[in-house]
Amino acid sequence: MIKIKQLTKQFGEHTVFSNLDLEIKKGEIVAIIGPSGTGKSTFLRCLNYLDSANSGSITINTTTIDCTRPKKSEILALRRQTGFVFQNYALFNHLTAQQNISEGLEVVKGQSKQQAKARALEILSDIGLSDKANAYPAALSGGQQQRIGIGRAMALDAELLLLDEPTSALDPLWVNEVLSLIKQLAQQQQTMLIVTHELQFAREVADRVIFMADGEFVEQGPPQEIFTQPKDPRLQAFLTQIE
Ligand code: ADP
Ligand code: MG
Repeated sequence: MIKIKQLTKQFGEHTVFSNLDLEIKKGEIVAIIGPSGTGKSTFLRCLNYLDSANSGSITINTTTIDCTRPKKSEILALRRQTGFVFQNYALFNHLTAQQNISEGLEVVKGQSKQQAKARALEILSDIGLSDKANAYPAALSGGQQQRIGIGRAMALDAELLLLDEPTSALDPLWVNEVLSLIKQLAQQQQTMLIVTHELQFAREVADRVIFMADGEFVEQGPPQEIFTQPKDPRLQAFLTQIE
């Protein structure tokens, strides 16, 4: 379904990660945990081509990109099949909630204004924000803004949803409403790769947890194993620090 092979990313002289492999099955929910600065965000960004990997390949369904020579058409195809949820929501402040969701449908999916608006209104209803369709981000709580961030990604009907610490910028008051929305998506068999520091959440929702450190996937497995029988000393240390 989703196959990442030998993915390598450098910023100038600095290699963030090299030769990372990952396969994700349809409907699978994979959580990535690990210390900051380890390359989690960069890895996710490379999967949506927000950052360009230097080498390796990314396959989603029938689209394969060879990252040493990516074609523009392949990048667009990849973007149509992946939704990205940002840590800081990254909504357009000059657009309403509905327009924030429609925008991607028009730009990425080439839908007409009317089509995109109709779909955005459906999504707003799914995420429980129908009454905020015409509100601008500044008038919404952090939790509401991030639910729109997630709605915007959902609207694309993406094969793979990439979520980069979706609750870490939130006031604790709003964390649960965002986590519940992600759980709702998980129940709908939405394939997800989610970077999170909410270990309890990862434990409840993920089918598989990957511990990333120093640019490597150090250890991975079902949540019970990762959290109760960690093998690598770096994972053991990470779990102790966080508790
Ligand atoms: P994490 O998400 O695990 O905290 P990041 O992927 O943000 O880690 O960062 C991994 C490494 O890549 C860090 O050393 C960071 O400084 C570096 N890095 C990230 N983005 C850039 C960039 N745009 N330019 C240069 N270095 C970057
Ligand atoms: Mg990060």
